Amino acid sequence: MSEKRQQDHHRVIILGSGPAGLTAAIYAARADLHPLVVSGNEPGGQLTLTTEVDNYPGYPEGIQGPEMMEQFRAQAERFNTEFRTGQVESVELSGRPFHLWLESQSRELSCDALIVATGASARWLGLESETALRGRGVSACATCDGFFFREREVAVVGGGDTAMEEALFLTKFASKVHVIHRRDELRASQFMQQRAFGNEKISFIWDSVVGEVLSAEGDAVTGLQLRNLKSGACSELSVGGVFMAIGHKPNTDLFREKLELDDMGYIEVRAGSTYTSVEGVFACGDAADNNYRQAVTAAGTGCMAAIDAERWLTEREDE
Ligand SMILES: Cc1cc2nc3c(=O)[nH]c(=O)nc-3n(C[C@H](O)[C@H](O)[C@H](O)COP(=O)(O)OP(=O)(O)OC[C@H]3O[C@@H](n4cnc5c(N)ncnc54)[C@H](O)[C@@H]3O)c2cc1C
Repeated sequence: MSEKRQQDHHRVIILGSGPAGLTAAIYAARADLHPLVVSGNEPGGQLTLTTEVDNYPGYPEGIQGPEMMEQFRAQAERFNTEFRTGQVESVELSGRPFHLWLESQSRELSCDALIVATGASARWLGLESETALRGRGVSACATCDGFFFREREVAVVGGGDTAMEEALFLTKFASKVHVIHRRDELRASQFMQQRAFGNEKISFIWDSVVGEVLSAEGDAVTGLQLRNLKSGACSELSVGGVFMAIGHKPNTDLFREKLELDDMGYIEVRAGSTYTSVEGVFACGDAADNNYRQAVTAAGTGCMAAIDAERWLTEREDE
């Protein structure tokens, strides 16, 4: 194959095919912008890692995450959204049109407006048993899955504000919440610590890490194997669910020094909009949201990004 690069120009390119990217695609396509979606290494985004989604409006009986994302994609395709597989590896945003390079570097894309919907990834412990039991008792989102653990004992792994928030939220449903933390004190703010310590449903297991997630023949979580880092002693904790709250990482490395990011790497957007620090680049979904991180909020900001991009392009064309 020729080494010569081919260039492909589009009015709007959308990076990411999760709820934010695909909603942006539906709106941009219906505004006749003929968007191109670059799907990334995880087509459909984070919801393809889960089973039941019970809190997205319009599905009164709930829906499987992967099926929901297929429906989002089908809706975007209905209005002639173009899709490209693969991951964008580098971008040039210093002048317009913007330039993007896909993995292989053999194909260069360019666009007048760019919508970044590259999402975020929950941090996991990295255990095989944890991966195998995701959606069967292992979760990284209490808001999403807490409801399934009514009157059951659950564990939260982590010691920061997010872990305390998850634990407190889970006390609405669970009979008991065990917070497992690798140190002997929390990293969480004093306010969150006081709330957690004051809740009688929450207990703490200090200086401990999860060695294995236990299950009955891989079916559903039945407990955790714990190891005390000070004494080395191993023990088992019987729980029906475990929530990993050891952080999220926005998928924004690509934009370091190209867009303004906050201390944690989330893309900064102008309040009430999806405008980033570079004119013509818009950001939506979890990549720009360290707070809500829900499918419906990602879809909502995806819609905003497409409307912002369309208005911005129209204004420029009218000048
Ligand atoms: C296990 C689990 C269960 C969840 N359950 C629920 C739930 O029940 N309800 C709920 O509302 N929310 C739930 N969430 C949260 C929800 O999935 C996210 O809030 C939502 O998916 C965020 O959407 P997004 O489009 O911003 O990003 P994502 O869904 O993270 O999608 C990001 C997309 O960007 C692509 N991408 C990344 N980097 C690049 C690149 N360099 N080039 C091109 N593409 C790229 C990825 O491949 C992916 O397609 C859950 C999350 C997890 C992890």
